[in-house]
Amino acid sequence: MGPAEEGRQKAGGNVANFRSSAASSLGKRGAALHVSSVIVILSGAARVSRPPCRSVVEAMKRYSALAIAREAARYHRGWERAWASPEPKGDYEIVIVGAGGHGLATAYYLGRNFGITDVAVLEKGWLGGGNTGRNTTIIRSNYLQDPSAAIYEKARALYETMSRDLNFNVMFSPRGVMMLAQTEHERRGYLRTVHANALQGVKTEFITPERVKELVPIIRIEGPRYPVLGALWQPRGGTARHDAVAWGYARACSAMGMHIIQNCEVTGIVSEGGRVSGVETVRGRIGCRKLAIVVAGHSGRLAEMAGFRLPIESVALQALVSEPVRPVLDVVVMANTVHGYISQSDKGELVIGGGTDGFNNYTQRGSFHHVEETVRALVETFPIISRLRMMRQWGGIVDMTGDRSPIISKTPLEGCFINCGWGTGGFKAIPGSGWAMAELVARGTPGPLAAPFGLERFREGRFIDESVAAGVAH
Ligand SMILES: Cc1cc2nc3c(=O)[nH]c(=O)nc-3n(C[C@H](O)[C@H](O)[C@H](O)COP(=O)(O)OP(=O)(O)OC[C@H]3O[C@@H](n4cnc5c(N)ncnc54)[C@H](O)[C@@H]3O)c2cc1C
Repeated sequence: MGPAEEGRQKAGGNVANFRSSAASSLGKRGAALHVSSVIVILSGAARVSRPPCRSVVEAMKRYSALAIAREAARYHRGWERAWASPEPKGDYEIVIVGAGGHGLATAYYLGRNFGITDVAVLEKGWLGGGNTGRNTTIIRSNYLQDPSAAIYEKARALYETMSRDLNFNVMFSPRGVMMLAQTEHERRGYLRTVHANALQGVKTEFITPERVKELVPIIRIEGPRYPVLGALWQPRGGTARHDAVAWGYARACSAMGMHIIQNCEVTGIVSEGGRVSGVETVRGRIGCRKLAIVVAGHSGRLAEMAGFRLPIESVALQALVSEPVRPVLDVVVMANTVHGYISQSDKGELVIGGGTDGFNNYTQRGSFHHVEETVRALVETFPIISRLRMMRQWGGIVDMTGDRSPIISKTPLEGCFINCGWGTGGFKAIPGSGWAMAELVARGTPGPLAAPFGLERFREGRFIDESVAAGVAH
């Protein structure tokens, strides 16, 4: 049994088995709740001081086919706001900075797995307005190193049941993710990854160019510069609706009584005797016993406020979408040699991801030449793109570590924890990261998923090197 499989059984708990038993009774809310509670108990989360929060169960009752019918009959006047907008209290047990997917998932699993609900999530803008709402939503777990495969596979497994767990449709679509091998070097690298994944319990295979063409009829496999030599294929990888992931977690957290406070920028971190005691915000000082910093591209700035430095660089990463067209592509394709990746959204737009800027910056736009470069590269492999108009382009600030692996760690400031460094590929990790971070914050020590990702690895030279394995790490 590989670490990912072991992690899944220990921490996520035979999700697939319970999924099939739940599938037979889908539609019966009670069954979904039963499945969720069994997962929590199996996970070991039951071994905590406080019982898992039950009010999340109440939240899950609200959206159903019956509710839609009832609201249709009364002109949809009865829907409540999905989450509350409370005034901040003076003091919380735990403050989380950043209402992106990772911050919200951390809050959710603090309540769900540890029964801790005296939690505030502080967001300087609107929730999900950072990278979580700007990414191209690729979900996969075909990483090379064991600790990465374990946490990304845990996350992927949680995505499988997320809509039911949160009673919120996150549109998880396991349509399959394909990483094209377009050089001999890349082909050998992916073969190695397939072997590593087999040991880790992650289901992937290396497929032939003919199979690639079968799955993606619009591809030109002979290619003018780089013929397709095969692909690394993960059939249960895919996409999800990014906003919905943030909204689903926010709604469940709010239902558990947690405070999600938007337009509340943290401007300083307060400590007493080497221990965190609160934060300064644009809405005044807020006290806390524990602090979790989960701010992606702004991590360096928050670390500076807390008095330590991070081995992280912030750069802009961008994406673009075409005009909507009829369905032409029902898998996700990543072409790392020419550097571009593509999928088709439910609206019909081709969602295209490009590269990072070659210099550190905090812009949420990205440089124009990347758009040109990305489209030019993809046209070689997907000639139909040349006929499409591009409609929108945007950027996010991603937080890159030297080994391209995340940091889930204690910090030199007692009671202060940090989760960052997901760089260009953290959307897929949101549930696994939240699960691991909640365990770290609640217990004060990392569990098996988070332990390899501590800050000390940079001092000890114990890197989890995904930079070579993941040429484009989305
Ligand atoms: C263009 C693009 C494409 C991508 N594609 C993929 C992909 O296909 N697959 C994938 O897995 N990943 C992808 N990613 C990466 C992924 O989006 C991120 O790794 C992930 O969303 C990070 O989530 P987060 O919650 O850590 O950060 P964010 O969503 O950025 O949330 C952090 C929040 O902290 C807030 N904040 C910052 N400073 C403060 C402060 N001082 N006070 C209060 N709040 C503060 C910010 O406003 C922000 O809302 C992509 C990223 C981009 C930009």
